[in-house]
Formats: sequence, C-alpha cells, structure tokens
Amino acid sequence: MKIIVQKFGGTSVANLERIELCAKRVIEAVEKGYKPVVVSSAMAGETDSLINLAKEVSPRPPEREMDMLLAVGEQKAIALFAMTLNKLGYPAVSLCGWQVPIITDNIHTKARIRKIGVRRLLNLIEEGYIPVVAGFQGVTEDWEITTLGRGGSDTTAVALAAALRADCEINTDVPGVFTADPRIVPNARKIKKISYEEMLELASLGAKVMQIRSVEFAAKYKVRIHVRSTFSDEEGTWIVPEDEVMEKVVVRGVTADTSESRITVVRVPDKPGIAAEIFKALGDAHIVVDMIVQNVSHEGYTDMSFTVNKNDADKAEEIVKKIAQKIGAKEVIRDDKVAKISVVGIGMRSAYGVAGRMFEILAKNGINIMAISTSEIKISCLIEEKYAELAVRVLHEEFIEEMEEFETINGKSK
Ligand code: ADP
Ligand code: ASP
Ligand code: MG
Repeated sequence: MKIIVQKFGGTSVANLERIELCAKRVIEAVEKGYKPVVVSSAMAGETDSLINLAKEVSPRPPEREMDMLLAVGEQKAIALFAMTLNKLGYPAVSLCGWQVPIITDNIHTKARIRKIGVRRLLNLIEEGYIPVVAGFQGVTEDWEITTLGRGGSDTTAVALAAALRADCEINTDVPGVFTADPRIVPNARKIKKISYEEMLELASLGAKVMQIRSVEFAAKYKVRIHVRSTFSDEEGTWIVPEDEVMEKVVVRGVTADTSESRITVVRVPDKPGIAAEIFKALGDAHIVVDMIVQNVSHEGYTDMSFTVNKNDADKAEEIVKKIAQKIGAKEVIRDDKVAKISVVGIGMRSAYGVAGRMFEILAKNGINIMAISTSEIKISCLIEEKYAELAVRVLHEEFIEEMEEFETINGKSK
C-alpha cells in the first residue's frame, strides 16, 4: 500500500472552487494507485481573522482559549474538503487533530507533536476512505486542544508522513522553493533539490514556504518532501538528505525575516551573571531568543540587545523591564521595525569571502547593519525593516550566478 500525504495550504483552499481543484489533485493520486491522506490548512485569511477577533476581546487572551479558537479554522476547511471529495464520488472522512489522534505537549499556541496514532487512519484507508486531517492542531494527554504555531499544517503533514512511512507532498501557491521569495525577487529561480539542512536554514530565516518544525521533523525521520504548486503540474522542489543533492552551491538562497523585534537593555552593569539572569527568565517563559549582541563596555556599563519573535515581544519586554529595574539598568528600548537578511548555502562551509561581499553590497546600498550572526552555512544581518526588500534584491543579484545550475538551451544560459 503506497500512502502519500498531500497537504494543501490556505491559499489553495481559499474558496469552494479551489477546494474542488485540490480534491482533483487527490483524485489524481488515487487514480495513480496511491492511498492519499489529506492535510488541510484553514481557508486563506481565516486564522488571521480569528486572531483579530481575539485581539478585539483582549490584547493578550489566555493561550488555551486562543487554541480553542484557532483550531476552528482547520475544522471548517476539512469538513468542506471531505464533502467535496464525497460529492465527486470518492468517500472521505474529515478528522480533527484529537480524532487521529495527534498528541502534543501542553505548550499552547506552539505545541510540539509527541506521538501520532495511525490505527484509525490505516483502518479508514483499508475501508476505502480518504482521511482528511486538520493541519496545525493536536491534543494533549489531558484532552486539551493545542495548535502548532503559524504555518503548522506543514508540520502536521510531515509528521503524518513520518508516522505512516509515506512521502509528503506540500501543495502551495508557488511552484516550489525558490532562491528568494518569488514575490519579492521576480527572477528568483526554482531549486530542484535542496538538503534538509539548507531548507531548515531558509525556513528559519524567513522563507515561510515551509514551517521550520516541519523541516526538523523531515530531517529527523528522513521524510522526502515534494513542494509544488496546487495549480500546475510542473515538477516542484524536492527536499531530501544532503547526499542526494549533487550540486553544492555556495549560496542556495537569500531570505528576509521581519517576524522579529529587537529589545535593547541600555546601560546594564557589566558584571557576571546579568546575561544569565535575563536569558534564563526568557527561557523559563518559553521565549526563544535569536540574535544577541553585547556592546563593548564603558565605565562598567554595557548595552545588551537581542531579538525575539514579535509574538513574544510583549511578554519579553515585560520580563526584561522587571529585571532591568532590579539590576539598575537605564531603560529598555523595543524596536519592531527590523529585518534579518540572510544568505544560506552548504557550499559556504568551504568558501571564503561571502561575508565580505554581503557587507559590501549592503554598504553600497546605504543599508546599515545592526547585528550579525553566522553559522557554518549562513550569514545573517539585522537591518532596518524598510530596507528588507531592497536588501534581498541586491544580494540575490550579487549571488545569482552561484546559486543554481543554469538550465541551458542550445548551450546558452537562460
Ligand atoms: P501555504 O498557505 O500554502 O502554506 P505559505 O503562504 O505559508 O503557503 O507559503 C508560501 C509562500 O512562501 C509563497 O507565496 C511565497 O511568497 C513565500 N516564500 C518566501 N520565501 C520563499 C522561497 N524562498 N521560495 C518559495 N516561496 C517563498
Ligand atoms: N492556519 C494556520 C496558519 O495560518 C496553519 C497553516 O496554515 O499552516 O498559520
Ligand atoms: Mg504555510
């Protein structure tokens, strides 16, 4: 039995006509001999409008109630999806996370999947049904509904593929993973194959085409992922183990991430234990800190800046303000208008000069760098948000020749 997990994103299921197109994709898979398991996101805009409703009630609603609310979006989509398949003559059954079950930890709004029960899915498939599973949601051991963070349907799909030992197809509104967001860089190129590690960096650094956790899952369980367009038949991008990626380009892609805020604690006494106190408190509140910069100290004082996801910025600011008061720091400044621009590629492990070129291009375009972070396969710079798109475009232009093998027609590059 060849099972395939087919995930459809929000734009793909934005209205009933589109759901019917998605259903036809599923039927094609059935006709080719696959047993599909469908994962659907909420219809486009639905999750955002539920969040806005909640924010009208209160700026920081209880996270448990947020999960109760947000899970509704996917529940609506899967019911309509299953109805459409039934109408087209293919029996289908929709399932919420708890009905599968997809068991998660109890960190509301960003839960992690712990276990998946596959018995019910396998029974349904045996009986000739197509299961249509709600993305983005799960249930704790205590029967509380959880959600997996924005874009979490990708993770549902990959986790199901891992549990069912199936391939995973991510059907979305672009025909694959590109060297930069095709909406910002029109001449970005589609990548044919990309390693988990590179995809993980791209996703972590702003390429929202795949949720980060879904790629972590794929790497851990070696799930092969095909990212493709819901609306065309063209071959998309394969996300696979590194040894299957022949081409080790220096720069695989350029990304911009505007989802973070920068928080600066000004005039912190420069003595041991202060950084530990701040970052331990943030960790205890389940807040992930990304870039950290500590300035050179002057007269026993220093400034400390760090970035966190905008969703956590209120909470982080509150925590840090309390500590700042206690330790006698001058003030806490928050800046929401920042962007992290990155270049990523496994070839960078053995290449030199990439950082220099990146800084030079930014400087030439009058873009100031506020913080830098690097790993073996990426370089990131924090800049003002208003320059994000410009930075992506000029960096893409700089590295384009090195990014992907050219497809040649009659010996000429195109
Ligand atoms: P879905 O609703 O199907 O989950 P998303 O909106 O979450 O889709 O992700 C797809 C979007 O990701 C695309 O519309 C595109 O604008 C954006 N994107 C950002 N970077 C990239 C990239 N490098 N390659 C492809 N798409 C990207
Ligand atoms: N509906 C959720 C969101 O908008 C999950 C997803 O689409 O993957 O983030
Ligand atoms: Mg998505």
